[in-house]
Amino acid sequence: MHEVPITPQRPDGFDDLIEADALARYRLALTEAAEGFRGRTWWHVNSASEGGGVAELLRSLLGYVAAAGVDTRWVVIDGDPTFFEVTKRIHNRLHGAEGDRGPLGTPERAVYDATLRRELQALAGVVQPGDVVALHDPQTAGLIPLLTAAGAHVIWICHIGIDVPNELARDTWAFLLDEVRAADACVFTRGPYVWEGLDRSAVAIIPPCIDAASPKNVPMEHPTMEAVLAAAGVIEAPVGDPTVPLADGSSVRVRRRAEMLEHAPVPATAPLVVQVSRWDRLKDPLGVLTGFAAGVHPELGAHLVLAGPQVDTVSDDPEGAEAHSEVRAAWGALPHAERTRVHLASLPVDDLVENAVVVNALQRRADVVVQKSLAEGFGLTVTEAMWKERPVVGSRLGGIAEQIEHGRSGWLVDPTDLAGFGEALSTLLRDDQLALEIGHAARHRVRSRFLAPHFLSAHLELALRVSAP
Ligand code: UDP
Repeated sequence: MHEVPITPQRPDGFDDLIEADALARYRLALTEAAEGFRGRTWWHVNSASEGGGVAELLRSLLGYVAAAGVDTRWVVIDGDPTFFEVTKRIHNRLHGAEGDRGPLGTPERAVYDATLRRELQALAGVVQPGDVVALHDPQTAGLIPLLTAAGAHVIWICHIGIDVPNELARDTWAFLLDEVRAADACVFTRGPYVWEGLDRSAVAIIPPCIDAASPKNVPMEHPTMEAVLAAAGVIEAPVGDPTVPLADGSSVRVRRRAEMLEHAPVPATAPLVVQVSRWDRLKDPLGVLTGFAAGVHPELGAHLVLAGPQVDTVSDDPEGAEAHSEVRAAWGALPHAERTRVHLASLPVDDLVENAVVVNALQRRADVVVQKSLAEGFGLTVTEAMWKERPVVGSRLGGIAEQIEHGRSGWLVDPTDLAGFGEALSTLLRDDQLALEIGHAARHRVRSRFLAPHFLSAHLELALRVSAP
């Protein structure tokens, strides 16, 4: 395992952003946690320090807790490719998807257990009895009984799930149920995701959130946004200063260029449709590409950017490279006229702040943001875009359907209905007033439910409850 440093961040920047009662609850939770955790540590353990929603959450949120005086630490378990092959299989199946169709039997169990036993050696050296350990996702679930036996209070947080469980999902619950039952509490992001066979009194529902002050979401002036995209080589735009002021008073200047697969850059004034995601079949980049090419009439002048991290950079995602080459092949197979309207962007991730401001700029530049996943635990990209007042077209499933109220704060489509997807895009590209109204409602929805203080209050209260003497 390795530790990810946490940079303390002033926790008081939310005063004007959230409602008074949410703010009061947040302040109280921080004060009580600073007191209640005295002499103890609030650990977070997951399997990737970058790429994906959980890393995104931890990176920005733990700093607030640290600055409030809670000793909090973030460690990432290490595993070899075989371990991540098994955990990716678990991940896919918990979404009800077959993934690589490989087995989950005794040999896979042995790989999973051996890695986590090895990781425990390192953890056991630092976690003290009485500490609270938040273990994130199935990759870490095997650590639950080992850490409770060591005297820690353990909360397992599952960020993924399926609306209606199928056989694959149920079988995979069975693979991990004994471990998960040993936790002091389990957190799911939505009610329908709670596994059968758990003690309901030990289950909490806490949706994830975004940090409005993080580089991913920090406000950006229009010329800066254009300059950032021009500097990153994603969009043709007037050259300007690609320096973005950040919430902590520092700034970041975008220097690294994205690797683009395109005939020519997106024209400066072209209407834009954007999906930002890891290269993962469950994010359905092929469906987005096909649905856009076939369903959005060229007369609208719109372009599509499918953006994701440079491949081979998301360490716990062995299928990324394969999914990426499928999208490249699909782009190559488009008729020439369609191909000129579709752009694939691989964003460098060696500097995460730079990566975040490029994603931020891309989401702000978009006329419509898309998240056409085939399965989605929550979908932080949706929250991020809604916060930026973008109309989002998302699949009617999972956390996307929880965030978007169809026709009000976004647009929901059946993920298999490509024609309906194309129609939704065209409607929002044509009707500026509708897009504007939806954007406003979207921001309001995030403000009232899905910002950092809502999330941190709930998690701190739970951590204090399970560890109360
Ligand atoms: N993301 C990013 N750069 C990329 C692709 C994704 O920063 O090239 C971020 C994205 O902005 C979001 C997170 O990764 O914050 C993805 O979280 P989400 O819940 O949407 O999906 P997950 O990857 O967890 O399935």
